[in-house]
Amino acid sequence: MSTNTTSTYSDFHLQFIAGEWQTGKDDSTNTNTNPYNGDTLVEIQQATKEQLNEAYDAATQAQEAWAKQTPAARAAVLYKVVNILDQRQEEIVDWLIKESGSTRIKAMVEFGATRAITLEAATFPNRVHGEIRPSNTPGKENFIYREPIGVVAVISPWNFPLHLTQRSIAPALALGNAVVLKPASDTPVTGGLLLAKVFEEAGLPKGLLNVVVGSGSEIGDAIVEHKAPSLVSFTGSTSVGKHIGELANGGEYIKQVALELGGNSPFVVLKDADIEQAVKAAAFGKFLHQGQICIAINRVIVEDEIYDDFVERFLAHVKTLNVGDPNKQDTAVGPIINEKQVKSLKEKIAKAQEEGAKMILSGEIDGQVVPPHIFTEVTREMDLSRNEVFGPLVGIIRAKDEDDALSIANDSMYGLSSAVFTADMQKGLRFARGIRAGMTHINDISVNDESNTPFGGEKNSGIGRFNGEWVLEEFTRTHWISMQNEPREYPF
Ligand code: NAD
Repeated sequence: MSTNTTSTYSDFHLQFIAGEWQTGKDDSTNTNTNPYNGDTLVEIQQATKEQLNEAYDAATQAQEAWAKQTPAARAAVLYKVVNILDQRQEEIVDWLIKESGSTRIKAMVEFGATRAITLEAATFPNRVHGEIRPSNTPGKENFIYREPIGVVAVISPWNFPLHLTQRSIAPALALGNAVVLKPASDTPVTGGLLLAKVFEEAGLPKGLLNVVVGSGSEIGDAIVEHKAPSLVSFTGSTSVGKHIGELANGGEYIKQVALELGGNSPFVVLKDADIEQAVKAAAFGKFLHQGQICIAINRVIVEDEIYDDFVERFLAHVKTLNVGDPNKQDTAVGPIINEKQVKSLKEKIAKAQEEGAKMILSGEIDGQVVPPHIFTEVTREMDLSRNEVFGPLVGIIRAKDEDDALSIANDSMYGLSSAVFTADMQKGLRFARGIRAGMTHINDISVNDESNTPFGGEKNSGIGRFNGEWVLEEFTRTHWISMQNEPREYPF
C-alpha cells in the first residue's frame, strides 16, 4: 500500500480487474479527449466480455470475505479514501477540468460532493442494523436482518462522473458489497479509473472494485445481464435507463435496479419573490456545468406580473458571465462534453425559433463552447419545455398566476428536482408540496445534493433514492428470519 502522494497517478490506459491493472483485450480503443481543446488525454484499449466475466468472478469471490470484515475495518478504508481525496484534491480537480470540461467552480462543487458522500458512507458500516418484530404466533420471534446485497453493477454518466460514480460505489463497498463499474465513455478516468487508484491506495482488498472500460456494444448489455450482480445501479438518460430496466427484469436472471434518470426541473418565480435573488439563482442553477446536470433548471416559469422585469434583469446578469476556458478561475460556462451533444443543442436552438420562441440572447458557437442562449415567450408545448435540454439554453415561460405556474411545473413526464421562489414561506411550502417530484427547494436552485438527504426522482426520472439511510436500504437486502422457541400447534 503506497501513501506516496508526491507522484501523480498514471497508467490510465489500463483496466482495473481483480485488483490488477491490465490491458484491454478488445480491438477497439477509447480515445479520451479534452472537450475544450481536443487534446488526447489517454488512449484505452477497451475490455472484452471475457474481461468483464473475469471482473465479475473476482467481485463474487472477494465479496464474501469483505462482508465478514468488522464494520470498523470497512469504515477505515472509507476514511482513508477521504484522506487521499483531500491530499490529491488539486490532481483530481485538474482531471475533472480536462476530461469532463468542468469549470473550476464546478470541479470544486463536484469534489466537495464526492468527499461528502464518501464521509457519509464511512458511517454506514456502523449504522446498518436489523429489527426485532412481534409475532402473532405464540413462541415465535421475528428477526429482520440487513445483509449486503452481494455484487453490484454500477453504470455512471459523464456529467458529474466522479461524484455520480462515488455515490454508488462508496455506499456499496461500505455495506459489504463488491462492485463492477462501467464508467461513461467520455469520462473513463474521473468516472472510474481515478477512483480505482484512490481505493487501491486506501488498501481496499483486491477484487472488490473492478473498473471495466468498454464499448456499449461489447459489454453494455452483458454487464446488466450477467448472473453475478443482484443490483444494477444506473445513472444516465431515461432512454438507456428504460433499456437497463427491461434487461434486468426480462432476462434469465431477475435483479433489482436503482435508476437515476433524466430531469426537466421547473424553476418557478412567484410575483412576491425577491427578483434579484431569483435572477442570480436562475443563472447559477441553469448554467453551472453548461446546464449539463440532471437537476439543472430546465424551465423557468415566471408569474405574469413580474415576467418582463425578471427577463430584463436575467438577461443583463447572464450577459456578464464569462464563457470559454474552463481552467480559468472566473469562467462560468465552459465546453460541452462532445460534438454529438453540441449538434443536439444546435438542433434545439433551431427548433425553438421555428416553434416561435423569441431568442433574446445568443452567441457564436466556438468549437464545443456554446454560449448562453435565452428564449422568451416559451410555451409548455414547445420542445424546450417538454424535453431535457442538457446545455446552456433556457426558455422562460409566462404563467397567468400561481395555479397556472403549478400546472405548468407539473406538466412533464419527469419528476426529479424543482424550485420555487416566493417571499411567503407558507405559500412556498404549499406550492412545493403540490409539485410531483422527488426534490423541491424553496428560495434556492433545483441543483442541490446533500449526502444525508434523499436524492432521486419520480415518473420517468427513475426509481430509488441515494444518500443517507435511503441508499443504505438500496444497497442491502432484507432477510426475515423467524425463530420458533416452543413447539407450534398445526391444524393437521
Ligand atoms: P447515457 O444514458 O447516454 O449514458 C449513461 C451510461 O450508460 C454511460 O456509462 C453509458 O456508457 C452507458 N450506456 C449507454 N448505453 C448502454 C447500454 N445499452 N447498456 C449499458 N450501459 C449503457 O447518459 P449520459 O449522456 O452519460 O448522461 C446524461 C443523462 O443522464 C441525462 O439524461 C441526465 O439527466 C442523466 N443523469 C441523471 C442523473 C440522476 O441522478 N438522475 C444524474 C446525472 C445524469
